Amino acid sequence: MRAHAAPAGLQCLGCGHCVAIGPVYKGCPRCGHVLITQYEALEVGLPVAAAAEAVAGRVPASPADLGQGSTPLLRADDPDGTVWLKCETANPTLSHKDRMQSVVSAMSRKLGHPGLVTTSTGNNGVAAAAFARRAGLKCLVIAHPGMPANCIWAISALGASIITASPLATERELIGTLVARGWAPVTSADPRCGSGWANPYIVDGYRSIGAEICAQLGRIPQVVALPVAGGDTFAGVWYGLQEVASTVGAAPPRMLAVQPEGAAWMARAQRDGEDASPLAAPSTAALSVLSELAGRHAVRSLITSGGLAISVPEADMLAETDRLAGLGLLVEATSALPSAGIRLARAAGNIKANETCVAVVTSSAFKWPTNGETLPREPSIRDRETLLEFVAGL
Ligand SMILES: [Zn+2]
Repeated sequence: MRAHAAPAGLQCLGCGHCVAIGPVYKGCPRCGHVLITQYEALEVGLPVAAAAEAVAGRVPASPADLGQGSTPLLRADDPDGTVWLKCETANPTLSHKDRMQSVVSAMSRKLGHPGLVTTSTGNNGVAAAAFARRAGLKCLVIAHPGMPANCIWAISALGASIITASPLATERELIGTLVARGWAPVTSADPRCGSGWANPYIVDGYRSIGAEICAQLGRIPQVVALPVAGGDTFAGVWYGLQEVASTVGAAPPRMLAVQPEGAAWMARAQRDGEDASPLAAPSTAALSVLSELAGRHAVRSLITSGGLAISVPEADMLAETDRLAGLGLLVEATSALPSAGIRLARAAGNIKANETCVAVVTSSAFKWPTNGETLPREPSIRDRETLLEFVAGL
């Protein structure tokens, strides 16, 4: 059993103001910046495995446990053998969102909320429905109009309510109404993203991804790549990696923030800073990262790590889903971005051949059938003779 450590408090990334743990859902009360949970300092000089275990346990013990986390770290197919794939596809609802929803459900129970309200293009809604149900909480998912039908089905089958609310003002009003009734908003850790609400416990679920990577490698990697939408996962994984590295006394990795060219706000933020203007009309087939800007905690994580924002052409992203399918991994388009980004960064000389890189593969394509468009499909076979011909040709 993993030992759990509850957060000791919240601290503002903007002005440093400290706030007690509680239902604080508008960001810093003084300046509106992002609040991040703080924990007791760990003993310095621990071995990697012990440091990773301690960092991964920095979440409240959860009544919403479905066996999330402890996902496999698999070798990729690069010629140098230095690229690894952290397969979040192995989580109970097939994405990294399970880690976050487990923690958020636990905190929501602890803080006495009757339910949680979240926004989703697919993955997050399914995870929210599963973990809220497990924790005995009500759940409303506000769905993007492009959410795949099987995600809608899964959310309903798990007992959550689902609705589409457009325009954004309607969504904000709906969330505000439920928050006024005591519900927890689960949208982003940065109040400037999307709904105007912020949940500081969102980021905590993702620290364990960074910790597990170090434990599985037995050391700290040089580069870790993730797709970025709102940036909660990106920041959470960075915090986990940084905490393990500082506890061990090693250098932390550089973070690659990988986005499709049509929704590449992080590259703009790397150039212009965390208050860079939002994208006017983001566009990509990767619905999970269709975002006009990301959270300020993500930009700070990128800069602090000495990392790099990478923009991947749409065609390269889709080709990478085929490449990963060739390794037996069926992933949604968004999840192909990190390994495609590592390849581009290597070609540009930003990563050396001997540097250990980890691509976080965030979600399976089983919930995203439209991503299969780029994969070759055999025609359906309806008669025996054609079947025999087909078999002979294999
Ligand atoms: Zn502040």
